Parts: sequence; C-alpha cells; structure tokens
Amino acid sequence: MLKFTVLGSGSAGNSYWFGTKNHGVLIDCGLSTKQIKKRMEENGLSLSQIDAVFITHGHSDHVGSCKILHKALNKYGNVPFYMSKGTYAFSDDRCLPRTIEFISCGGTVQIGDLVVEAFGVTHDAPETLAYRVEHKGMYGGVLTDLGSITPRVLNKMRSLSIMALEFNHDPKMLFEGTYAYSVKERVASMEGHLSNQQAEDALAEIASPRLQQLIAAHISERNNTFSHVERHITRALKRANAIHDIKVHLADQHIQSPIFEIEAEYSLVDY
Ligand SMILES: [Zn+2]
Ligand SMILES: [Zn+2]
Repeated sequence: MLKFTVLGSGSAGNSYWFGTKNHGVLIDCGLSTKQIKKRMEENGLSLSQIDAVFITHGHSDHVGSCKILHKALNKYGNVPFYMSKGTYAFSDDRCLPRTIEFISCGGTVQIGDLVVEAFGVTHDAPETLAYRVEHKGMYGGVLTDLGSITPRVLNKMRSLSIMALEFNHDPKMLFEGTYAYSVKERVASMEGHLSNQQAEDALAEIASPRLQQLIAAHISERNNTFSHVERHITRALKRANAIHDIKVHLADQHIQSPIFEIEAEYSLVDY
C-alpha cells in the first residue's frame, strides 16, 4: 500500500509525504519544521518516518526549512536531502543543510521500498524538478510549479495512481487582482504556474482508470477559489469520460489533508 498526505500546499509553503508501513519520503519543506512535525503527528505520523527529503526547486515556499529540518531529523540518523545542482546554487545559503545529495532529470533513488524518480519541468527556478514515487508498481506524483504541461509531464501523469496536480489560478482573478503587473505576467507565463484551464486540459487528456486519487494543489489563495477548481475538475473528468470513481481532494494551505492509501489493482477474473 502506498500512502500519501499533503501537509500544506500553496505559495506560503509546500510539503508532501509519501510512505509505506516501513519507509517514507518528504517532498519539499516549505512549511516550518514545527508545522511539518505538527501536521504529520495530526495524521498519526512522526518525523522518524522521513527517510529522505527531496526538494523540487529553490523558491522559499519549497526549500525554506531545509536546514532546520535537517537538524531535527539528525536524531533519526543520516537522512539525506536531495536537490538539483541548480536548486543548490539558487537557494539562499542560510536555509541549506551542510550536506546535499544531488539529483537531476532522469535520476532515480531507492529509499527502502520506495523508488523516487526526478524529472524536469519548465518552472522559473534553475533546474526545477518534479518527483514520481513508486512502490510495488504503483506510482504517485507531485506536479506543482510546472509552468507548462510538456509531453514529458503528460507521460509521467499517465502512470500515476495518485497525483497532486497544480490548479494555481483563475486568469481573470489574477489579472484583475492586486499583484504588480510583472508578477501577474510571470505567474501566467510558461515558466510560472498552471491556470485552472491548463490543469483541466491536462487532466482531461490523461484521466484513465489507473488514476484513483486526484489532489488539486498549489491553489492560490488570492487568485483562485475552491469552487473554480471544482468546476474545472468536473469538466475535465466529463471530457475524459471518466465514469469510474476518481476521488478528488482540494489541498489546503493551512491544514493537512487526510492520508490517502492506494492499493495495487488486480485484474484477476474470478471464474
Ligand atoms: Zn511554489
Ligand atoms: Zn516556485
């Protein structure tokens, strides 16, 4: 069984945990270490269930608490922190731990009974990566801060049974909102964040019976609403004729999601 929880998601901090009963990995540590610990505990998990940490990119909402978390995890032994060389060079030194393991697009790392694979996306921090996590043939993925949907991203999405997918903004709210024009342009660009429509189009293209659980993530608190996101997801699933039961959850910035559990599906026919 592959377990997944979103500890928090949005521009104020991102952190995601994948695990089994034996091992676990954290993707991003943009929430404070205190919040990561608290939200894991509220889900019946502990920091001891983090065997490795993987960072997507150097924006502070993903990398912010690396150094303090590294210290906190020290008592459980040597917990490696993986990031790209681009992320290492771009990140503020003050938030980096002393030792880093480097990973690049196409790299895979085995952490106990989990295999974590990195792949590149077009977001505007140097060498931004997304991660796919595999356990016994089941795949989960965190796909936020994408900038755009590339053929590589679509291919990875097709393999996932559980997926956190960015539904960042509604363009009308973004451009009528209070952000400086340059920020609006950056968010909406191919190297910024996915709009609801871009996420809908991608989901409509890949939704298949393989996908069991969808989590809409990195939802802007200022430039989006949950009802906008829900409308786009409903439309995507209709377009895909996804008549099977894809469970949907909208990730929150301030509170952890439940733990989602994905079981391998067996197509054995009982005669
Ligand atoms: Zn972000
Ligand atoms: Zn970012």
